[in-house]
Amino acid sequence: MARRITRKLSAAPLEPEGPAQLKLSFSTDNPLGENLRRGEFSVLVEVNAPPREQPFEPAVAVAERMAREIRDVPWATGMAVTDRLRSEDCYDAASLVGLLATASGKPVLMHLSGKGSDKARVQEMLARGLSAGARSLLAVTGDRSDKHPAPHGLARNPPHPVGYFDSVETLHTAAASGHGFLLGAGVNPFKYNVADQCLQRYKMVRKLATGAQFLVTHAGWDMKKLQELQWFLQMRQVDVPVIARVALLSGDQIRALQDDVFPGVFLSRTFASVLQRESEINDTQSLAAQLQRLGLQVAGCRLLGYSGVQVVGVRDERTLAMVLKRIDEALAAFTSYPEWVAAWTEHHMSMEFSPLAGVYYGFPNLLTPQHQFYEAGATVVSRALPLPSRGDRRRSTALRLCLSRVAPEFVKKAGVGVLARGWTARRDRLAYTFHLSPEACPKRLVFGACGGAGADGTCEFGGARCFFHRVLAIAARRGRLDRLEQGLTGD
Ligand code: SF4
Repeated sequence: MARRITRKLSAAPLEPEGPAQLKLSFSTDNPLGENLRRGEFSVLVEVNAPPREQPFEPAVAVAERMAREIRDVPWATGMAVTDRLRSEDCYDAASLVGLLATASGKPVLMHLSGKGSDKARVQEMLARGLSAGARSLLAVTGDRSDKHPAPHGLARNPPHPVGYFDSVETLHTAAASGHGFLLGAGVNPFKYNVADQCLQRYKMVRKLATGAQFLVTHAGWDMKKLQELQWFLQMRQVDVPVIARVALLSGDQIRALQDDVFPGVFLSRTFASVLQRESEINDTQSLAAQLQRLGLQVAGCRLLGYSGVQVVGVRDERTLAMVLKRIDEALAAFTSYPEWVAAWTEHHMSMEFSPLAGVYYGFPNLLTPQHQFYEAGATVVSRALPLPSRGDRRRSTALRLCLSRVAPEFVKKAGVGVLARGWTARRDRLAYTFHLSPEACPKRLVFGACGGAGADGTCEFGGARCFFHRVLAIAARRGRLDRLEQGLTGD
């Protein structure tokens, strides 16, 4: 397998502010970590922890057979197991780790979701995962819970009964646990407006500064967006392994396609109709077309500088065998970037993958044969960040003053009650949102946006723009965008 392509480049302006350079390194005896460190292209197969409605053994039988399928494929790196992906009523990811590791003889990347979680659950999952043999962890905040209704028309969503433990806090907890996990963080490169893209990047840097050692992307098909993320990391001189999630869709998912597949996973209408046309003939034809595209995507990811792929949506061992065969063929067939770009472009003609017209790409020359890497001096396509409203500016300043060290307790209490709309969690966390009330975020996050906002920046729960657009606007106005990147330290 080809080695990971990395290249050190000189500093260039962060979009839209100047960068704080970040250099990362890790050493580990963990097999996935070793693979990433050696620069070998990793291929992971993702399975979902099944719902609890079935007894455990039948529920995990397919995943176990898929694990056996990769045992004798030397270049298949391992498995990944999601946690509470569709529902909270799933078996925990930790319950599958030992079984998958034994059946595959390979490492298992354990996802750990903050959905319906608190610190106690995270600590318990870390301990259980460790004793089951997990050595690598992907911290995710989690998409909207099925236990978290968003009544239509309510301007203010009620909180989840337990809450969402932000992936930043999971990373912080895992790093402090001393268990020695190789820590991964999620990033969604498929953001189509400047505010969402900046928010994803700031939070990504925050996660790295909190202890993440590698990144895993959301799934998507827009290769320009995957190249854009690589160029951004090269521009910032962040040498961190990134695994791209690439997806197969089922016939049912294709037939039900709308603007997004899952929160934060987007399709253009044109691409959706291509998928639907392919599936009209039959599911076999649809799968063949998807496998063709998936092989091209995987080969492209390697040439764009990704350290590996995590294949999502494989439903049985027979499909897995076809997926592995196709990946093997595509990696052998495409070893030159210009050839790959030509093949990708020819395969899709001039099809747009972006879900909206006139969307934001941060760099020119993406997916052109002449430009494989970010080049020092390349112009960053920059657009203005949102401006804060007068009300937000006033609220932010007033609450900051109320919570200043010299303010008496009754002032602090009244300030939080009125200006933070009764925020009951730690007051010091309000500094992360520039003293805007996180009660406006249905997940009550403070460390940055989740990846679930719509392509136009609408909150995953609908209704309004993502709360963090407002935080970003205040940070930009005060010239303190750097604070959106600061890692979580202390208790
Ligand atoms: S406000 Fe933003 S961070 Fe909060 S749930 Fe909505 S999209 Fe996610």
